[in-house]
Amino acid sequence: MDASRRHRIAEALPPAVLPLLEQLGAREDVEAAGFLRPSEAVVRWAGRTWRRRTWGDSQGLHVNRGVFDQLLLSAAMRAGVRVIHSARVRRLACEGSGGWSIEADTPEGPRMVRATFSVDASGRGGLLRGQKRRLSADTVALSGHWADVRIDGEHSRTEAGQDCWYWAGALPDGSWSATVFVAPDRLKPRHGDLAEVYVRLLADSELLSGLTSGRLISAVRACSATPEVDDGPVGVGWIKVGDAALAHDPLSSQGVQSALSHALAAACVVHTLLTETVSPDVPLSFYADRIRHAAEHHRRLAGAQYHEQNQHSPSPFWAARSVTPVVSPIVPRDFPRDPNRVLVRAAEARLRPTPVVDGDVIRLMRAVEHPRIDGAVAFLGRDYLPPLVETMETPKPLRELLCEWSALIPPDRASLVLAWLWRHHVIEEAENTRPVRPVWT
Ligand SMILES: Cc1cc2nc3c(=O)[nH]c(=O)nc-3n(C[C@H](O)[C@H](O)[C@H](O)COP(=O)(O)OP(=O)(O)OC[C@H]3O[C@@H](n4cnc5c(N)ncnc54)[C@H](O)[C@@H]3O)c2cc1C
Repeated sequence: MDASRRHRIAEALPPAVLPLLEQLGAREDVEAAGFLRPSEAVVRWAGRTWRRRTWGDSQGLHVNRGVFDQLLLSAAMRAGVRVIHSARVRRLACEGSGGWSIEADTPEGPRMVRATFSVDASGRGGLLRGQKRRLSADTVALSGHWADVRIDGEHSRTEAGQDCWYWAGALPDGSWSATVFVAPDRLKPRHGDLAEVYVRLLADSELLSGLTSGRLISAVRACSATPEVDDGPVGVGWIKVGDAALAHDPLSSQGVQSALSHALAAACVVHTLLTETVSPDVPLSFYADRIRHAAEHHRRLAGAQYHEQNQHSPSPFWAARSVTPVVSPIVPRDFPRDPNRVLVRAAEARLRPTPVVDGDVIRLMRAVEHPRIDGAVAFLGRDYLPPLVETMETPKPLRELLCEWSALIPPDRASLVLAWLWRHHVIEEAENTRPVRPVWT
């Protein structure tokens, strides 16, 4: 484990990381670490400048990645993980017997580790071989760390520039970390060295002009920020997590959250493969589908933001990253609150066996599918949907339905589940539905 090569200093994490950190036993330490928790961000995009409540009413974090990673490492050690500090893996080889031999350089000299299972969490570079699919145009991030800046407040700043975009975030000591995202051709030698290009680009920014009157106190570093996915992220005996499987566009600020959440799912996949509770196809397809879905979802989210900027100020930089937003298939409609309204399962809604997380294993369980749902959904929070959907095989008034559900689910959650099923067209008013086909396929 080599946590010493952390170049990017500040990163913004959404509040959704907190429940994940709680699951990992690291939330308390992260919340006590004194990271800034700004509630607003200043954004200049598509011709407007505004202050945005960063994450609605919740607060995210501006972490110092070096400190954050150390806190995660300590939590792992508390949970019983044996860590070989400052080890750099040089070679990872699959042995004939199915295990792995891992050669690492450590401060004490070379070291060999044998393992039954390999988890590649080495970031974009990836230790295990594989084919990466680019999700957007090549992008390079140039980052530096600034002191004595003239910027009011501690709100992060995101700005669309001419042919680049900027992100900057403050650290508790008043210093700032600032990154410019550009196309790789901006780094050709004729434009000057890295630091010159970086400072010149920052000088063009409206929101970050107060930085360049300060002092650049780090070297300027360049790294890839191209979003990419590995469509084969798992096999029997190995798995890729975090950026090694799927690297998001940094515009989303979701890379860390996604790495944590996929790693938690990966732990269940590994557990299932090692305990052989089901056929390996079940956990393998679960993980590969999950990564593929997440890649597509984030490609569209980030692409829509570039599209917005390209509509305002067209240029090859924005066009190359744009994705035209798809009109949501979810049409808002009022839930029929009249208890005498008759509801029934929609003909297109089916229950299909699908690999899902159940506790710490992946199993085949029935899940709800509908053309308007992205993928299949088994649980809404803790509530398992199929038995609830099955009660709607025959048309019945809402009051009768809720009475039947009271044996299956508490009333406060019943109304949430009903509203979700209604919004996603899994249930319909009886008079609007065609004859219902059997729920099993
Ligand atoms: C410029 C930029 C800005 C970003 N900003 C944000 C943001 O604001 N918010 C956000 O959520 N995400 C952001 N991201 C994305 C985020 O940084 C990544 O998604 C996240 O760090 C992925 O975590 P990871 O553990 O998979 O990989 P990494 O964080 O890259 O960690 C990989 C680790 O593996 C170690 N390693 C690599 N090779 C070896 C080896 N051979 N032996 C031993 N150890 C090794 C590395 O030293 C490192 O410690 C940004 C990304 C970029 C490029």
